[in-house]
Amino acid sequence: MRPTIIAGNWKMNPSLTEASHLIKSLTQSHIPTTTQVIIIPPFTHLSMIHTQLQNSTISLGAQTLSQHKNGAYTGEISASILQEIGCQYVLIGHSERRQYHNENNTVLNQKVHQALNHQLTPIYCVGETLEERKSNQTLNIIKTQLTEGLAQVSAKKPPNTPIIIAYEPVWAIGTGQVASPEQAEEVHHYIREELKTLIGTENANHCPILYGGSVKPNNSESLFQQPNIDGGLIGGASLNSKDFSEIINSSISINQHQ
Ligand code: PEP
Repeated sequence: MRPTIIAGNWKMNPSLTEASHLIKSLTQSHIPTTTQVIIIPPFTHLSMIHTQLQNSTISLGAQTLSQHKNGAYTGEISASILQEIGCQYVLIGHSERRQYHNENNTVLNQKVHQALNHQLTPIYCVGETLEERKSNQTLNIIKTQLTEGLAQVSAKKPPNTPIIIAYEPVWAIGTGQVASPEQAEEVHHYIREELKTLIGTENANHCPILYGGSVKPNNSESLFQQPNIDGGLIGGASLNSKDFSEIINSSISINQHQ
């Protein structure tokens, strides 16, 4: 069985006060026992939210990390600092990091290794642009992102150490233009097959693959019913406690097909 995961990427939102309210309502809402919820707030909110989540099953993640272990890298945050502050997960390779911070697959691979060296589970994001999809490059792009971003991971990764993949078509992020369940499943299935080569069949079969890109309460269930979709990475809708809670609850449909 693969874990069911719903992760909320808050990006550069909300304020500290708004964040505290969001966490409060989330910890008071119903969460299926089979679903692992992960909140991914701005760095500055991690410590407060870690305290707020003390008696909850919700976990904490960071939005990125440095590819360096430590040292003179002003403004950067290392894996060991994230680990110390209570993070268990870290997003790596979100398309906004690739696009606005020029993070390429080589740098992202270094970040994946930093995370694994410090017992942080990487949520490694892949996805094609609209142009790449239109020119039938989707699967090639995904293959390159996986092969380069996860290079040497199998050498280090003990069996059953979790790594999470998020398929996020760039054209679907924040646009309201969600991938159809069939479009998403086609890529998720491809990712699972590629992972078999990269990290071994057993690890690939245990690896959660999340879909991200305009997931809302009205489309989450049909996505989650696909055989290779193990949860969601939610941006905009994770900032609304009612919507996020509805998406979390729709994740019970995932368990029915495993
Ligand atoms: C994201 O940024 O990871 C994301 C999926 O955003 P949204 O849900 O807003 O499309």
